[in-house]
Amino acid sequence: VFCAVTVSPLTMTGRRGAVIAIEDRTRDEETEQMRRDFVANVSHELRTPLTALIGFIETLRGPARNDAGARDRFLDIMEREAGRMNRLIGDLLSLSRVEQDERRRPLESVDLAALLRSAVTTQLASAGAAGVTITAQGIEGQVMLPGDADQLMQVFHNLIENAVKYGGSGGGVTLSLNRVEHEPVLRGPAWSVTVADQGEGIDERHLPRLTERFYRVDTHRSREKGGTGLGLAIVKHIVSRHRGRLRIESEKGQGSRFVVTLPESVGRL
Ligand code: ADP
Repeated sequence: VFCAVTVSPLTMTGRRGAVIAIEDRTRDEETEQMRRDFVANVSHELRTPLTALIGFIETLRGPARNDAGARDRFLDIMEREAGRMNRLIGDLLSLSRVEQDERRRPLESVDLAALLRSAVTTQLASAGAAGVTITAQGIEGQVMLPGDADQLMQVFHNLIENAVKYGGSGGGVTLSLNRVEHEPVLRGPAWSVTVADQGEGIDERHLPRLTERFYRVDTHRSREKGGTGLGLAIVKHIVSRHRGRLRIESEKGQGSRFVVTLPESVGRL
């Protein structure tokens, strides 16, 4: 516990003694620590690809100047590293936009089923290239609920992309939309979207920390797959803005299920 202690003498009252005020600053200190960690993480994440880029530029100017084969190889790596920086900056902007929209933009009526159809369609090509099939259930027709269409699109884009990236090797990815008559935590009717894969799964001890910014089960693997470590943090943030819930169920070697539950009614927001 961090405390601010102020001692004020009781001089005005003519009596001897003092007033001691003790203020609990634990929350302030925690927020400040989180901010410092975040800045340190961002700097580190940006510096890694930047250092590689600088190294390759120097090599291309020097030892590899006349080596056409090396030049092509290095340019490919440089393109990949620059792409990584670009994605990281995109994700950082998304996170800050969610925070700003929270204050500025009210939720509107959104057709969740249509949104999911479109999220699946936009991922079909990259899933196909990775040899993964995506199967969807329950997304026909219209399902209206209060939401921010761009942000919800990002939620399902990130979840499907992860399922293809980390879960694709074990078989297909399924997405299903279901009505929940009474969601106990949201205390009312809701819609739940489940994105499931049959891939590598996640060890139980990682589950509570998965939505933290930059938390990865395997940093090398995430980087190799072009991940920024921010995808699930963005998902969590957007789902909270919608007063929804995110549940992650997984077991090592058994695949994963990411369940997003969103309240159905505007009156409840
Ligand atoms: P990243 O950009 O690294 O993919 P995310 O925030 O999207 O970052 O995910 C955090 C970590 O959670 C990933 O690095 C990965 O280890 C793990 N993860 C996410 N989705 C899945 C999944 N469907 N199957 C297995 N592991 C996953």
